[in-house]
Amino acid sequence: MRTFQHFLSYYKPYRKIFYLDLFCALMISVIDILFPLILDYLSNDFFLRGAKIIQAALPWIALGLLVIYTIRSLCRYYVSAQGHIMGAYMESDMREDLFDQFQRLSFTYYDKHNTGIMMSRVTNDLFDICEFAHHGPENLFISLIKIIGSFAIMFYLNGILSIALLLVTVLMLLFSYSQNTKMKRIFMDNRKKIGEINASLQDSLEGARVVKSFANEPLEKDKFAHSNARYLKSKQDNYEMMGFYYGGTNLFQGLLYVTIVVVGGFLIAKGKLSPFDLATFALYVNVFVAPLEVLVEFTEMFQKGFSGFKRFEEVMDEDPDVKNEPNAKTLENTNGHITFKDVSFAYEEDKCVLDHVNIDIPSGTKLALVGPSGGGKTTLCSLIPRFYDVTHGEVEIDGVNVKAYTLESLRKQIGVVQQDVYLFNGTIKENIAYGKEGASMEEIVQAAKNANIHDFICSLPLGYETPVQEKGVRLSGGQKQRISIARIFLKDPKILILDEATSALDNESERVIQKALDELSKGRTCITIAHRLSTIKNADTIVVIDDEGIQESGTHEELLAKNGIYAKYDRLQFEGL
Ligand code: ADP
Ligand code: MG
Repeated sequence: MRTFQHFLSYYKPYRKIFYLDLFCALMISVIDILFPLILDYLSNDFFLRGAKIIQAALPWIALGLLVIYTIRSLCRYYVSAQGHIMGAYMESDMREDLFDQFQRLSFTYYDKHNTGIMMSRVTNDLFDICEFAHHGPENLFISLIKIIGSFAIMFYLNGILSIALLLVTVLMLLFSYSQNTKMKRIFMDNRKKIGEINASLQDSLEGARVVKSFANEPLEKDKFAHSNARYLKSKQDNYEMMGFYYGGTNLFQGLLYVTIVVVGGFLIAKGKLSPFDLATFALYVNVFVAPLEVLVEFTEMFQKGFSGFKRFEEVMDEDPDVKNEPNAKTLENTNGHITFKDVSFAYEEDKCVLDHVNIDIPSGTKLALVGPSGGGKTTLCSLIPRFYDVTHGEVEIDGVNVKAYTLESLRKQIGVVQQDVYLFNGTIKENIAYGKEGASMEEIVQAAKNANIHDFICSLPLGYETPVQEKGVRLSGGQKQRISIARIFLKDPKILILDEATSALDNESERVIQKALDELSKGRTCITIAHRLSTIKNADTIVVIDDEGIQESGTHEELLAKNGIYAKYDRLQFEGL
């Protein structure tokens, strides 16, 4: 019920269009129902009155009919155009709501859900919902009126004949319904098979280098031929079924007319029906049968639309794990003093990643985190901007729990440079400007200079207007990283998190980027996660963390003197170089 109300609420802004749409649908049905009756009157009564009267009336009859049909076509226009437009508006409203919701949802949601499926929500599900939203009510309305109206008139014309007709129609509906269920199954199978083909195609295209390096083209060909054949088979079944369905429905329609001719002929012979009435009756059969098929389609449309809407609602009902607390205040001009107080964290229950961690990072100092991969370094950092909330304990900025700040103001104060850089579709300039709303060109250029990427950008034919991503320039990992660093220069946050920012780079790029990062970290509180110890030697504090927790901490010299884990790392890397 709640789902239904929620669904109806999307009609609200378009109530006027909706009612007018239904009104037009009503007009169409009424005209369709009355038209054979008018013909019946003309042929049964009026046209028998003599040549003079008929000739005098013909222009008026023509005019009358023309007016009726003009009204009908205007209504048809409204239903087709405005009805669809209303559907498109509703779809756009839902899409926007869904997008807003995706923006609200926390990292935990994205951890658990596949982006491909989320995309299909935004496209397929919404399309199904909106097809139903505008066709549904109007189809239901038109069909019911036509079915009830035409049957009433047929019954009025002749009771026996209409009952006979009804019996055949019920058989036809049963056939239609059973075939529809089968067709749906085959259709689903079809969709699955095309999905398999796409997966296979995507796999071998994206993995083209691997395929070629193993010279495994024949294997890939085989795999593809297999899924291609399965798809072909499924399509064959589909068309076979469709042919059977349409053929069968046609047979039943023929059966309807046979019934009319036989039963009608019988009734005429008995003097219980006039030939003209029989002709009118035949005209009504179409008015009666066509909407029945629409109703069968309607049930399918309803199922698709409603299950789509249920899935839509599922996402909309999802509450973000991380959100603003009531009375959250704005974090402005932070000193950048970070404290982890007895912090524990688990992604899943009972799988503790951080266990009672205590770290103090005074304002403007540099902290380095080192340790084996999977030790929880990234996790620890992601608790500061509240990508996730702690399970136990507190993360504080300037002595206040981060939960007391609004998410927006908190995250504005923190810059994160990661190993993987995501560049958006757009130009280099736009990608840098992402760091600050309304940044001027001077600011963008300055940021690029600070990030050591300005000269490279200028060497491109289109300069700052060069598009990145598809069809754009191919940027190396180091170039992308410098663009992301320029973004952070623009953002100018007080707190900086460098999460293996240079790990994926070659020595040459690393050196350039390290320079940019040293520049960036000046005057900011900075947490660096690094594999290569050479980059963190100068940190004020180095913390060694593994899946057992914090093992040691101190300055580079202190830790070397301690001759513990850090000293061992240092020796290994030194020897490794
Ligand atoms: P590090 O950065 O030190 O390599 P991480 O913080 O990435 O370590 O990971 C710590 C542990 O948490 C690992 O065991 C990892 O598998 C797990 N983990 C990391 N991210 C997630 C996530 N989004 N969902 C569930 N577990 C995660
Ligand atoms: Mg990590």
